[in-house]
Amino acid sequence: MKQWRLAAPGRKFVFDNYRSPWMNEELDMLRTTARRFFETEVVPHADKWRRQHYIDKEVWLKAGELGLVGVSFPEEYGGHGGTYAHDVVIMEEQARACDTSFGYVPGAFGAPMTLLLTGTPEQIHRWLPGIVRGESLLAFCATEPDAGTDIKTLRTSARREGDEWVINGSKMFITHGLRSNLAIVAARTSGPGAKGISLFMVEKDKAPGFKVSKVLEKMGQHGLDTCEVFLEDVRVPHENLLGMQEGNGFGKMMDSFVKERLTIAVTAIATAERAIELTLDYVKQRKMFNQTLWDFQNTKFKLAECFSQARIGRVYIDSLIQRMVDGANPPTAEEAAIAKVWCSEHQWKIIDECLQLFGGYGYMQEYPICHLLTDARIQRLYGGSNEILKELISRKL
Ligand SMILES: Cc1cc2nc3c(=O)[nH]c(=O)nc-3n(C[C@H](O)[C@H](O)[C@H](O)COP(=O)(O)OP(=O)(O)OC[C@H]3O[C@@H](n4cnc5c(N)ncnc54)[C@H](O)[C@@H]3O)c2cc1C
Repeated sequence: MKQWRLAAPGRKFVFDNYRSPWMNEELDMLRTTARRFFETEVVPHADKWRRQHYIDKEVWLKAGELGLVGVSFPEEYGGHGGTYAHDVVIMEEQARACDTSFGYVPGAFGAPMTLLLTGTPEQIHRWLPGIVRGESLLAFCATEPDAGTDIKTLRTSARREGDEWVINGSKMFITHGLRSNLAIVAARTSGPGAKGISLFMVEKDKAPGFKVSKVLEKMGQHGLDTCEVFLEDVRVPHENLLGMQEGNGFGKMMDSFVKERLTIAVTAIATAERAIELTLDYVKQRKMFNQTLWDFQNTKFKLAECFSQARIGRVYIDSLIQRMVDGANPPTAEEAAIAKVWCSEHQWKIIDECLQLFGGYGYMQEYPICHLLTDARIQRLYGGSNEILKELISRKL
């Protein structure tokens, strides 16, 4: 039984009875567009993309055409001038489609947001409009084999030679490492520590030294090209130093973390909600011992627990989204960390409980619940591992 359909006939989604306080009519229209995009342009290709470990370029172009890339970026830079809520709507619809192959968060939100935060107006004008149109894809390369959580120890170097910078080093776990044509690379321009880190834009077609050594085989998120990258004498012009300023890379990366962590929390809750819907659908049909699986009290209790946890998470993230949209009192670093840790841990627990109710079918690739679980595991690791975020939260206690 293929489970890609979005609802059992005649039954509404259980979460449709709740409306987030930040939703409005304009966002409803965006939701309709995004839902159609994921149903028609993404879901039918999901199996192929997982097998090849990247998505087809035309999908980015289509998303750009529909105005689904750069929804919250300023219009003066080619964006669509929306708010963070616009991004959230698209992320929720992606979760609803059980997809992680279309790299919305890294490609249409996270990496371009770093460009926006760091670049000079000229640099943003130069690279952002192409990203919004879906013609360019930007990767963000910070992590190294020996520098992950402790990113300030990164060793990739950039040395000035006249009007150029020469970058050497290696990067690990780079999302869109293969399919991107642009990459922001964090490199050391002076001494040890956070203050020596700068960010550079590498245009890959002009940088033969930017080499993808491997597309990594992952536990989940198989449709995303996550790569190991080597930088061998990669030469970039001085005007590709983001912000035209040395040593501000670490601070700019930190600035982007609040939104990035809140975003992980948003996708965690939206995916957990979807898992619950799929499971409700399944248990009400699955028959055993002369009744449905739903008729067992254990099933009702388990799903009631999952539903309650997802709702508690939803109310918390909605309050942070609302404040992000209002702008006057945006979420703090601690609040975003709390949301990321709690929501990613509950995403994992909820999907695991749901998968148990599918029995052996839940372990089969053909069932979306199987992908939801393996795709979810990384949420507790990236964007700041949950351990380092608990460390951050504890500093306020
Ligand atoms: C699928 C995927 C996609 C990714 N995409 C990108 C990308 O596009 N660009 C990019 O730059 N990076 C990317 N990353 C890297 C990701 O951000 C790192 O994996 C993450 O920062 C953790 O670093 P690490 O893997 O080196 O683990 P480590 O830093 O080695 O951590 C190992 C363990 O030590 C724990 N730990 C670390 N510090 C502490 C502490 N102070 N106290 C207690 N415990 C601690 C961690 O929580 C973790 O459990 C991606 C990773 C994956 C797997």
